[in-house]
Amino acid sequence: MQLGKPTHVPHAGGILKNYINGAFTCGERYFDNINPVNGQVINRVCEASQAQVDAAVQAAKTALTGCWQQLSVEERCAILHRVADGIEARFEEFVAAEMADTGKSLTQAQTIDIPRAAANFRAFADAVKSQSAECFHTDTPDGRGALNYSVNKPIGVVAVIAPWNLPLLLLTWKLAPALATGNTVVIKPSEETPATATLLAEVMDAVGVPAGVFNLVHGFGDNSTGAMLTQHSQIDAVTFTGESRTGSAIMRAASAGVKSLSFELGGKNAALIFADCDFEAAVAGTRRSVFTNGGQVCLCTERVYVERSIFDRFVAAMKEQAEAIKIGWPTELDTDMGPLISHKHRDKVLSYIAAAKADGAKVICGGGVPSFGDERDLGAFVEPSIFTGLSESSQLQRQEVFGPICHITPFDSEEEAVALANDSDYGLAATVWTQDLSRGHRVAQQMDVGVAWVNSWYLRDLRTPFGGIKLSGVGREGGMHSLSFYSEPMNICIKL
Ligand code: NAD
Repeated sequence: MQLGKPTHVPHAGGILKNYINGAFTCGERYFDNINPVNGQVINRVCEASQAQVDAAVQAAKTALTGCWQQLSVEERCAILHRVADGIEARFEEFVAAEMADTGKSLTQAQTIDIPRAAANFRAFADAVKSQSAECFHTDTPDGRGALNYSVNKPIGVVAVIAPWNLPLLLLTWKLAPALATGNTVVIKPSEETPATATLLAEVMDAVGVPAGVFNLVHGFGDNSTGAMLTQHSQIDAVTFTGESRTGSAIMRAASAGVKSLSFELGGKNAALIFADCDFEAAVAGTRRSVFTNGGQVCLCTERVYVERSIFDRFVAAMKEQAEAIKIGWPTELDTDMGPLISHKHRDKVLSYIAAAKADGAKVICGGGVPSFGDERDLGAFVEPSIFTGLSESSQLQRQEVFGPICHITPFDSEEEAVALANDSDYGLAATVWTQDLSRGHRVAQQMDVGVAWVNSWYLRDLRTPFGGIKLSGVGREGGMHSLSFYSEPMNICIKL
C-alpha cells in the first residue's frame, strides 16, 4: 500500500453505474455526486429503477443455489481474500474516491477507511472457517438417546444498506460476513457516497466473483432503491447502518415479509472524565472522540461530563485543542478535519447550534462556519464547536447531531455521572477516563450501551460484539456475532 497523495479521482466527470448479474448497467435516471469541499459535481450516478432492483434481487436468488453455495467454504474464502487483494491493488484510487465523496482527510482515508475495508474481507473469510455448530446428546425413554446437532445455512438474499460516514468500511463490515457465510447480496450505498462501492464492484468483477453473487444498485432511500429493497418479497434479510428513524421505517417496511434485521443506528455518546484521570490523555482522547471525521462517526462523543474539581481546566484545555484543529483541503497531510458530508447535513448541524444558543448555551469555541477566501467557501465546513451551560433536557443534549460539536457538563459524584450518561434515548457507546482500576470496571459495566471504553476510544477488535441498545440498534455484529446473524442454524435430530 502506498501512502502517497492521490492525484486522480476515478470516474471523475464520468458515470457511476449499477452492477447487476455481472454487468455494469445504466438506466433512465441520474443524480449528481457532489464533492462537499467545494460543491462541485464529481460525476453522475445511475439511479436504479424498480426493474433493475428486481433484476438484481433475481440474480442474487439464482446465484445463491446456482453457484455460491456450491463452492466449498475454502473456495469462497479464497475469493474473498482476492477481493481484499484487489482493493489493496487499487488502494490509491479507493482513497481518492472516498476523499472526493466525503471530504474526509487523506490521513483518515489512508489509515482507517480503505485498509479496514480490505481487512473486513480477510477477517470474515478467516473467521467463517472457525464457525462452530451445537451438538447435544438427548435422553430418550428407551435409553438409547438421540443426537441433536445443528448446521449453519445461509439466510438467503441479503440487502445491505449503508450510510455515508465511513462508506466502504461500514459497507464491507456487513458485506464480507454475508458473503463468507454463503449468502448473496444486493448492496445500496448512500446516495452521498456512491464511488467506492462502484470501485468495489469493479474489483468483484475483476477477481472472478460469480455473476449475481454481488449486486450493486444506486439510489436514495424513501421512494427509491432503499425502499424497493426493504419491501422486496425475495429479500430474506436486511442489514442496515444509519439513522435511528430510518431504522424504524425499514422495520415497518420489512415487517410484511418478516425479514431478519440487523440495525446499527445512531448514538448520543457520553464521555465521563473523573478527576483521577490522566488529564492529558483524557483531553487528547476526548478531542479525538468528539472531532474525528468531523464528528461524523456513530461512536463520536457529543456529551462530555467532567468532575467539577477539574471542570474549568478541562474546558480550557479542550478549547485549546479544538482551536488547534486544522480544517481544510482533505488532500493536505496536516489537515485534521474536512467539511461535513453535504450542505443539507451542515444546515442540520447549524440548526442544532442555533437551538443551543437560543437555549442559553455558552459558546466556548466555534459555533459558526469558517471562511477560507477560496473555493472552499462553497463547501460544507463547520467550525469545531464546544458549548457549556445547557440543561440535560435541551435539544442539543437529547438528539444526535453528527457533527464536530460537544457540550461539557460538570458532575459531583460517580453516581451522578453514571445517571447523567445513562439518561439518553440512545445506547451505543461510552468512554470512561479514570486511573482508578476498580472505578473503570465499575462505571463501564454500569453504562447502558453496547460498547464502553476505559481510557481509550475507537480501539476496535473486529472479533468483539458491536452494536447498540435502545434507539442505537438491534442485534450485534463483529466476529462470530456477524456470522451468526448471516446464518440460519438448522437442527437435525438423530434417534440412536
Ligand atoms: P440514513 O439513515 O439517512 O441513510 C442510511 C442509508 O439508508 C442510505 O443508504 C439511505 O439512502 C438509506 N435509506 C434512507 N431512507 C431509507 C428508507 N426509507 N428505506 C431504505 N433505505 C433508506 O443515515 P446516514 O445519514 O447515511 O448516516 C448517518 C447515521 O448513521 C447517523 O445517525 C449515525 O449515527 C448512523 N451510524 C450508525 C453506525 C453504527 O454502527 N451504529 C455507524 C455509522 C453511522
